[in-house]
Amino acid sequence: MTAHAALASRGASVRAKARRGLPRASRAVFVDLAMWMVGLGVVVGAVFPLLTVVLGVPVDAALTVRIFVATVFAGLLVGGVNWWLARRVIGPRLRTLSGGMQQVAATLRHASETGDWSGCDDGTCLLPVDSDDELGDGARAFNALVGALADSHRVESAIRDLFQTLSSHLEVDRLAAASLDWVAGQVHATAGAFLVCRDDELCRAAACGTIDDAPLCVAPELQAMLRTETTRRVAVALAGSESAWAVPLTFAEQPLGVIVLADTRPVSPEGERLLDLFRRAVAVSLHNALTHERSQQLAQWDPLTGCANRRSGMANLEEALAARSRAEVGVLMIDLDHFKRVNDAFGHLVGDQVLSHAARTIAGCLRSTDTLVRYGGEEFLAILPGTSARDLIGAARRITLALEHSPITIDQNTIRVTVSVGAALHTTTGEQDVEGLLRDADRALYAAKSGGRNRAVLAVPEPAHHHHSTAPA
Ligand code: GH3
Ligand code: MG
Ligand code: MG
Repeated sequence: MTAHAALASRGASVRAKARRGLPRASRAVFVDLAMWMVGLGVVVGAVFPLLTVVLGVPVDAALTVRIFVATVFAGLLVGGVNWWLARRVIGPRLRTLSGGMQQVAATLRHASETGDWSGCDDGTCLLPVDSDDELGDGARAFNALVGALADSHRVESAIRDLFQTLSSHLEVDRLAAASLDWVAGQVHATAGAFLVCRDDELCRAAACGTIDDAPLCVAPELQAMLRTETTRRVAVALAGSESAWAVPLTFAEQPLGVIVLADTRPVSPEGERLLDLFRRAVAVSLHNALTHERSQQLAQWDPLTGCANRRSGMANLEEALAARSRAEVGVLMIDLDHFKRVNDAFGHLVGDQVLSHAARTIAGCLRSTDTLVRYGGEEFLAILPGTSARDLIGAARRITLALEHSPITIDQNTIRVTVSVGAALHTTTGEQDVEGLLRDADRALYAAKSGGRNRAVLAVPEPAHHHHSTAPA
């Protein structure tokens, strides 16, 4: 049965119940009442002279036309006055009730059209219940209806708000912060944390209130929650209380994370349904955000060496040059010496291991603000923002020395690779662009190769002269 059919049939049964009173003569209740009261008065007036005969009044005194007319008239009068009284007593109260309903209905319509429910408080959106009868019951039922309507509107606007929040963030941390904010507001939590599962480990993506998330990330109670589907209270200490609500997030049976909330107020069944909807919606969005994050990483990093790939490295260099106004940017073009021989002697798989070892060694010689890019097969580009010529050639020498002194042993073969480095500096006053800078570095690298390899050469920042000063390592 559709909802509409169900409502229609319920309406029919309500009407059937209403028909159980006296038969209706017209479409207006006071017209019906007038007919019944006046009719009854006339009947009683007509019967009254006969009754007096039964009670012993002589027949010729009782059954006269005058008496008959007088009693019928009296019956008419009483019926009429009764009808008038009923109208005066019930009519105004019915009118007050229906007037109030119309006013409330108008307020509700305005509120739902504008979305502003602030004008709808108990005084304006509820009817006063001042009688202890059917009219009072009617007012009470109406108020209950208004309450249900306001509740469902609140849920609807909360859901709209949630979907707005979820659809406006693609980064995991921002999504986590926004959805934690939303749910903490819904359940009135004083503190909370949004933990995301990456490589089977929980780590904090967002937090609110005063919390210490380090113990949360390793709490076995939360780990155990990860593969479940139901929100429940777990025994983890959070914001001064001994237990907290944990909301597990899963997508296609994959654990994605868990939200913990401290000091929540008791949640109504309706609130629970809302939380469940939240849990499912956030899981889908989180899945998307994690997938996005992973694809961003794939697009950015070289899987063999862990360095930035060429595409993101170039973007990084462009950015560094654009921000260089206050500091110089140095680049090192680093090429492994005779790497082909390593491949030829030990095979490509060993070559790969040597290559990744070389990348780690080079990265170990750089600062945390520097970027190492895998520029080509066995060629790396180091970007050093905020450096001087001295520091740049110093870093280049550190790199050549480090590789020279850290051979790698694979399958009992000790393999030592060296590198040649071409360094170029982009000065704050220089006119070069990215290509010019890389061309300079390439030329310096070529000079290092032809100068005997395993050395660093700094390009002189004068493109017109193509002159390089050699600085053997
Ligand atoms: P040079 O000192 O002149 O640079 O000599 P080289 O042998 O290093 O230079 P060349 O350009 O002749 O050879 C580069 C070699 O690097 C060839 C290629 O097989 C190897 N190579 C490039 N990328 C990879 C990689 O990802 N894995 C492995 N194993 N080898 C690679
Ligand atoms: Mg090489
Ligand atoms: Mg090469």
